[in-house]
Amino acid sequence: MSEWESVIGLEIHAQLATRSKIFSGASTAFGAAPNTQACAVDLGLPGVLPVLNREAVTMAIRFGVAIDAEIDHHSVFARKNYFYPDLPKGYQISQYELPIVGKGHLYISPAEGELKEVGITRAHLEEDAGKSIHDQFPEQSAIDLNRAGTPLLEIVSEPDMRSAKEAVAYARKIHSLVRYLEICDGNMQEGSFRCDANVSVRRKGEQKLGTRAELKNINSFRFLERAINIEIERQIDLIEDGGSVVQETRLYDSERDETRSMRSKEEANDYRYFPDPDLLPVAITDEDIAHIRASLPELPEQKKQRYIDELGLSDYNAELLTANRETASYFETALAEIPEQNAQLANWILGDLAGALNKANLDIADSPITPQMLAQLISRISDDTISGKIAKEVFEAMWHGKGDADGIIEARGLKQITDSGAIESLIDAVIAANPEQVEQFRAGKDKVLGFFVGQVMKQSQGKANPGQVNAILREKLKP
Ligand code: ADP
Ligand code: MG
Repeated sequence: MSEWESVIGLEIHAQLATRSKIFSGASTAFGAAPNTQACAVDLGLPGVLPVLNREAVTMAIRFGVAIDAEIDHHSVFARKNYFYPDLPKGYQISQYELPIVGKGHLYISPAEGELKEVGITRAHLEEDAGKSIHDQFPEQSAIDLNRAGTPLLEIVSEPDMRSAKEAVAYARKIHSLVRYLEICDGNMQEGSFRCDANVSVRRKGEQKLGTRAELKNINSFRFLERAINIEIERQIDLIEDGGSVVQETRLYDSERDETRSMRSKEEANDYRYFPDPDLLPVAITDEDIAHIRASLPELPEQKKQRYIDELGLSDYNAELLTANRETASYFETALAEIPEQNAQLANWILGDLAGALNKANLDIADSPITPQMLAQLISRISDDTISGKIAKEVFEAMWHGKGDADGIIEARGLKQITDSGAIESLIDAVIAANPEQVEQFRAGKDKVLGFFVGQVMKQSQGKANPGQVNAILREKLKP
């Protein structure tokens, strides 16, 4: 066991899914030609005034309510002053002392059966900056201001995580939550969901936190885990070699799989925060909050509990099925067709379907097998049209676009043989062909039954009803 403990806190920037920007009417759509979606306000031209987008405030409160946070009735926008080419105003409008969402918390499940509470310090509204592009023109940098003014919710966790795995579980939880809440599309490739990880180490038993480094430029959960683990190792090696960690921002390079120093860490007073004189404080009433609370969809925790209580699913399966909105919605759509078969359905979704999706690198929303198709397949097992084994073959065929279960069963003649006369004659033939094994079975070697079942199933090309085969065999093999 290592004598070191790692401590991680995450700052997550979730781009809010409003149609227009946080302080202007310009569109937030991704992928437009550079600088076509930046209006005078986003460009910071003299004489313009920001106007707060009500929808961004509503979305922030939705998040706050979902994590049981204190919602501030009075919150203030502040200017965070710094110079950067992609920030034309020379300051970013953010929130500092009075963020809209205060202390909250949520639960993560880093491994089966584990549950851990993670504190959320605050979540505040701010505007995004533009983008500097360094790989478009040789020796020159380009600026695209389309993103300038896009609303962000910055969600700051307490330093409660103790491993990269916990940090990933937390980030996934927030990711799932903002999508359930429909406040962020969660697209990490496009940068709508970004995680910065603050990492420090200390000797076990030590109370004081170690000096932290902040890791940036992480655009997938896999990289988040790698970057944190690499940084933990780097810090431990450094301290063990007699050095010390400096507080700085480090860039994760996924190609070289290392973190590199980017800049020394600014202190808050470097930014000369002050309340933005162009924007009024935001006043939120209890009625506003109650109204927003009432409009929330069923959240993952509640859904999970309902699956356990009402459907009798295991804790683990309920957790996996509700881990993201798309999986839950797939499950519920299929369940509407086969309400009695929830356990089988859960197994198919979390087993064969998840495996196939994973292998093909597809999201469940893009599954070639629709919930209706999977439900039909499961009904054909439970009404004894096909066996579980044949069902795997039908599943394969559906996956490859050969039609729905009924069509495939019909076209390939896969209907199960339940006619006991037909099964009996198969069995008679197998018994006649294997006198030696018959003797063994009658002499008490029970295992040989498996051999007979296998032979009969083979003769029937897997189509004989296995229950019937077993029963009839036992009858016929009796001494
Ligand atoms: P800043 O204002 O510099 O961003 P904060 O105090 O807001 O700093 O903390 C930012 C993030 O860093 C939070 O998520 C917090 O939990 C985390 N954090 C703070 N101190 C440590 C530490 N020593 N080790 C790991 N994470 C830390
Ligand atoms: Mg910060």
